[in-house]
Amino acid sequence: MKFDYHIHTEDSYDSSIKAIDLIKRAIELNYDEIAITEHLDLLPQEIKKYGAPSLDRYYKRIKELQNNTSELNVLCGIEIGDYHRVKEYALSLVEDINFDLILGSVHFLSDATNVAVPLKKPLSEEQVRDYYQQNLLLVFHCNIDVLAHLGVYKRGYNYIPDESAFYPLLKDIFNTMIDRKIALEINYSSLCRGYPSFLPELPLLEMFLDLGGRYFSLGSDAHKIEHFDLYRELIPTQFCTSFRYL
Ligand SMILES: [Zn+2]
Ligand SMILES: [Zn+2]
Repeated sequence: MKFDYHIHTEDSYDSSIKAIDLIKRAIELNYDEIAITEHLDLLPQEIKKYGAPSLDRYYKRIKELQNNTSELNVLCGIEIGDYHRVKEYALSLVEDINFDLILGSVHFLSDATNVAVPLKKPLSEEQVRDYYQQNLLLVFHCNIDVLAHLGVYKRGYNYIPDESAFYPLLKDIFNTMIDRKIALEINYSSLCRGYPSFLPELPLLEMFLDLGGRYFSLGSDAHKIEHFDLYRELIPTQFCTSFRYL
């Protein structure tokens, strides 16, 4: 089964993809299932900048596309940024909408650094620790289906840093995910940005497996149509089984 569960379209402020073009392309490339996962970013500075999204309108838009597409299964998902920090607010917006897939992701550190955009300099050890601690809080406190782009801060690096000091913390994250049946996303947007691996890297995927993790998701995290499916062939096939059908 060929799938991609992390793609941004018209309702994401930073995407230039039109859902209709995406669907056409996915059918051409023989996909079986894709999930459109617009941003839901609710930290005060984000609301101030982009406003609160209309989820009802978004949901209706995707359902309509779904009903008009027979060759491909189109899921309506959402990527909730920093969910654990805006939990009650986010819940109040999403609980009445029957999303097919909820992705959780960490975009901001405690010191307000946005780690999802290219960084001016590599994070300090303290910042990396904070990044993973935020991920632990997210998977512990929030009901999500998928932890998205774990390790996203490395996306702009041109080398793979040594993260062995954080392995105990990563094990805590993975064990919590396994207990709570949260899938680990393999995000390959990093390859489009010059990072020499998909995220998380192979040793971390193996750590997840060794701890008993079985649920994997796969996401291009595309914001431009030309990034959809690009470098997907570099993901080892053993990780390309959809957790939704296990
Ligand atoms: Zn994200
Ligand atoms: Zn995303």
